[in-house]
Amino acid sequence: MLEPTSRTELATLGEFGLIDRLAARIVIGQPSTVKGIGDDAAVIDPQALHQVVTTDLLVEGVHFDLGYVPLRHLGYKAIAVNLSDVYAMNATPRQVVVGLALSNRFPVEAVDELYEGMMLACRNFDVDLVGGDTTSSRSGLVISVTAIGAVAREDVVYRSGAGQNDLLVVSGDLGAAYMGLQVLEREKAVFQDSGAQPDLEGHDYILERQLKPEPRRDIIELLKKLGVRPTSMIDVSDGLASEALHLARNSGLGVRIYDEKIPIDPSTYSTARDFNLDPTTCALNGGEDYELLFTVAQSDFEKIKGNPSLSIVGHMTDAASGYQLVDKQGGVHPLTAQGWDALLKS
Ligand code: ADP
Ligand code: MG
Repeated sequence: MLEPTSRTELATLGEFGLIDRLAARIVIGQPSTVKGIGDDAAVIDPQALHQVVTTDLLVEGVHFDLGYVPLRHLGYKAIAVNLSDVYAMNATPRQVVVGLALSNRFPVEAVDELYEGMMLACRNFDVDLVGGDTTSSRSGLVISVTAIGAVAREDVVYRSGAGQNDLLVVSGDLGAAYMGLQVLEREKAVFQDSGAQPDLEGHDYILERQLKPEPRRDIIELLKKLGVRPTSMIDVSDGLASEALHLARNSGLGVRIYDEKIPIDPSTYSTARDFNLDPTTCALNGGEDYELLFTVAQSDFEKIKGNPSLSIVGHMTDAASGYQLVDKQGGVHPLTAQGWDALLKS
């Protein structure tokens, strides 16, 4: 993946040459972007809205493995995960800035690939790439993306706004990105051991969920259309359990999740079984789903029930009831955020 057909050393362009090359391909489209790349700083018109700002750092070997992640997908995902955080505030992303630390092992063509992915995500979600910084790295690739969004002050949704008895709702399905990662890791290990070509057949959905996550702008739009305003919201980057605990703790409440209500795609389910993993555990603790988890008032039940994009997985309780997971037999277990480490050991 690091060996495109032609290879131009970064040194032949230099930092300014590289920036010029990138800038030449970037199109500005947002009315709120006053000035993009090309000055000491970008200029943004807030248009009397609240601005939301979020950043994510992606480090080679920690957050991604170039052994199986194509650079184009990595670029797309780097933007997508930031936009997901903006949507989770019920805001509209408008601009991103991108910091890059590159080692000289990357040819110019590799940077082009990375930017292709980033610009595709920007186009898909109507966001301008308005600046960044470029430097060299002695180790691997580091990508820092900062996204800026806008929202009317009365529309901001925090993690802390849930009310007792509010319904806990999640978009899409969970656990697929984690299972996609397991398949990629397995095939990488097989390749390293035997040189066998990866067998990714039949895993399209979970691989796409891992490699090309889509931030849920459509859910924000759907909720507006339904006339439902979430009382609290978070995006699912670390697994349902962890995110539900954030909403509960930040809102000073307890939470109760019903195992059988957790949406899991059949392909996630069957792959988890192949790996001897419990599908529910993958959904609760897998992470990188980039779905939206939010609470709504009970009175909104009729508006959201039966919607194929939304699942009611539980509800908020009083703080004293704590954090609970109810299994299919009605047994109650403590809801804990195990995260990835525990999963890998199980
Ligand atoms: P400075 O020395 O003031 O940091 P730079 O030479 O780093 O300026 O950047 C020049 C312009 O190019 C700025 O508008 C900056 O935002 C933009 N830029 C630099 N690196 C990147 C990058 N990786 N992606 C997008 N824009 C970039
Ligand atoms: Mg700079």
